[in-house]
Amino acid sequence: MSVERIGKIEEEAAAAIAGAGDTAELEEARVRFLGRKAELTGILRGISDLDPSERGEVGSAANRAREAIEALVAGRAGELEREELGRSLETDRLDVTLPGSPPRPVGHLHPVTRTRRLIEDVLVGLGYRVVEGPEVEHDFYNFTALNHPEGHPARMLQDTFYVEPSEDLDPSCGSGPMDVLLRTHTSPMQVRAMEDSPPPLFVIVPGKTYRRDSDATHSPMFHQVEGLAVGEGLTLADLKGTLLEMLRALFGPDREVRMRPHFFPFTEPSVEFDVSCFRCGGQGELEGGERCGLCKGIGWIELGGAGMVDPNVFGFVSEHGYDPDTVTGFAFGFGVERIAMLRHGMGDLRFLFENDVRMLEQFS
Ligand SMILES: [Zn+2]
Repeated sequence: MSVERIGKIEEEAAAAIAGAGDTAELEEARVRFLGRKAELTGILRGISDLDPSERGEVGSAANRAREAIEALVAGRAGELEREELGRSLETDRLDVTLPGSPPRPVGHLHPVTRTRRLIEDVLVGLGYRVVEGPEVEHDFYNFTALNHPEGHPARMLQDTFYVEPSEDLDPSCGSGPMDVLLRTHTSPMQVRAMEDSPPPLFVIVPGKTYRRDSDATHSPMFHQVEGLAVGEGLTLADLKGTLLEMLRALFGPDREVRMRPHFFPFTEPSVEFDVSCFRCGGQGELEGGERCGLCKGIGWIELGGAGMVDPNVFGFVSEHGYDPDTVTGFAFGFGVERIAMLRHGMGDLRFLFENDVRMLEQFS
């Protein structure tokens, strides 16, 4: 075993590595000259068996040769990778102007926004004007001017979020921490709209409202639409006609409306109103006699509250032209989420606020 043989191996290896045309051929050469069964590996393994006088010379020659071959392999590998990349860039061109696969859909409005706009369209078509008001509201507009005197139990029915008032709060609106709140309904705008414009007045108030309430059908924040009509000679029949027109636009031309006596502090008389069920046609049962799950077999679906404006409410704005002896009016209100859930067959209000795209995409 001579140092000359090692030099020969190194030459052969250099030729094989330089001649490798691709990474597979290079790997073949690497195994042939550096692998477990390679001649050079055998030489290195047998050094301890050599005569001590030969060990140093052969050992250092073999190690140098191995390092040299390793460096040649690494260098050629880099060259081949660059060549192969260049070739694949030539042959596998991407057309970046092609659409993605599958093409991403363009987004759409949230179901609550779509429902609110639909309601606005219907009521604007009936002659109403859209007005919006503050979400942080004075007790005066949220309760007092809507005929909820202090200590009235109706104030307790709406679990209210109170807000620490700012120090420069107008003292005419009261003082103390109980006098500023997150509005519990959009009804405060009834009073604000009447302060702003004399009768006749036809406004709707869409917007966010807040109550301490949270389950499958209640959320601490939800959207309401409030409607107010004031003029001379308006009656409960006008209210019923308005509701009927609106509900037929939202739920189909065959719908009927039903009003049931109820109590609200700011309307007298007050009603709750229902729409005839659009799944069973108001029959309470489906074809084949199965009970209708949507209306729970009743044939009617509860939607909102309404009534004739209480003359006491006009008393708070009488100096703006609302004389309780000459004008009458009606008001109605309902939840936007409830309408969206009914129209889209959703079982849980919270789906509307979790904003899971997989859910929202079903309602494009
Ligand atoms: Zn039904």
